[in-house]
Amino acid sequence: MAIQLYDSLERRLKPITPSQPDGVIRFYNCGPTVYAPAHIGNFRTFVVNDVIRRLLELEFGPDKVKHVRNLTDVDDKTIRRAREESRPLADVTQQWTVKFHADCAALNCLPPHVEPTATGYIREQVDMIDVLMRKGNAYRAADGSVYFKVSSFEDYGRLSRVKERELQVGSALAGKVTAADADEKEDVSDFALWKAHKPDDGANAWDSPWGRGRPGWHIECSAMSKALLGETIDLHTGGVDLLFPHHENEIAQSQCCNGTTFARHWYHSEHLLVDGKKMSKSLGNLYTLDDLVAKGFSPMALRYALLMGHPRKQLNFMLDSLHAAESAMTTLHSFWQSIPDNVGRADDCDSVFAALHDDLNTPGALGALFTIVKRGPTNISKTAFEKALYALGLKPTAPHTPKVEIPAAITALAEKRWAAKQAKDFAAADALRQELAAAGWSMLDSKTDYKLEPLKK
Ligand SMILES: [Zn+2]
Repeated sequence: MAIQLYDSLERRLKPITPSQPDGVIRFYNCGPTVYAPAHIGNFRTFVVNDVIRRLLELEFGPDKVKHVRNLTDVDDKTIRRAREESRPLADVTQQWTVKFHADCAALNCLPPHVEPTATGYIREQVDMIDVLMRKGNAYRAADGSVYFKVSSFEDYGRLSRVKERELQVGSALAGKVTAADADEKEDVSDFALWKAHKPDDGANAWDSPWGRGRPGWHIECSAMSKALLGETIDLHTGGVDLLFPHHENEIAQSQCCNGTTFARHWYHSEHLLVDGKKMSKSLGNLYTLDDLVAKGFSPMALRYALLMGHPRKQLNFMLDSLHAAESAMTTLHSFWQSIPDNVGRADDCDSVFAALHDDLNTPGALGALFTIVKRGPTNISKTAFEKALYALGLKPTAPHTPKVEIPAAITALAEKRWAAKQAKDFAAADALRQELAAAGWSMLDSKTDYKLEPLKK
């Protein structure tokens, strides 16, 4: 069965197919803006895209997939962060790129084949804007910024189904248009291709036919996908938050510039909610991978938990789901270890792949995996089981033993008790032991030392 994914543009399930005679699937996934650690909502998208990448390689062959994911390393947010920290922009973006790569590796996400940066493709972006200017799809405003003329592209809004009128009201209400921008633009729905240099941009400016400045955010994906994958790509993905305006704008820029279909297939994964709410700093429910590791969870449990919901439905994440994910990973690990090397009649895990090929039904695939586990280790071949785990990117690792953090007050009590015991004041030592037990800790003594352990509940 071919890999079927929902296409957000045509609004139907469609098989993923290559369009070029070389048979290579050209796959573009919008990457992160590198100015802070990515949160688990971002990682839901990247983990889902990693499963897509793995499935494509298993289906078409490892050399028949070209996966490009960009890094946004110049925009309002990155520049603001560099200014606040009085550091060069490249310093800040390098720091967060390294962190992003480390988090991706911990979550067992395969690195993309090419990971271009916006600042590495300024020439290509300028060239594209130049074509749009010459074709009449863009104009230069009085301040030197260049805008895309939305009314010049008949198909604008096809992806997001945003009508012109709603678009104007909606984007103005959403605060996506600043007052300064609005002054310069001919129409409120037009968007920036090139931003004229402002004092706040500091040294972050490049020369262009329209004066010094920097690219608008949307143009980078159009330019980099064209440079690395060609004018038409086979699969373009991202989080649903990027559908409008980012992806709508990418289509407008690319199709007006190149005169051909930009992406043959659009796939969007849904939002992650935490405890039923949208993640935000002010609600205190914005978790990074480090936050969860500090709470004692393993990155593999997070990956599992992120796959527990259907990627095209909102997933409500709770810390409790990580406990369930952690024990599921332990079960998978001991099952994997118990599979004998040679099995006569083996299940080939088709049910797992059937679920994944049917619009990336990851909860269905996990369910199928546990049905196999229930049938017992003598009914499955180890290779087939490992292939299914590989597709989901789940590494069967030994049970995770979280690092226990001992509160300072508990350490202080333990020290007091140890001193009392050394002084042979056994009554005091015993009272302190009871005090520790009441706080949930036990103290294991050796001749020369002691160890603190949390009491099992
Ligand atoms: Zn993009």
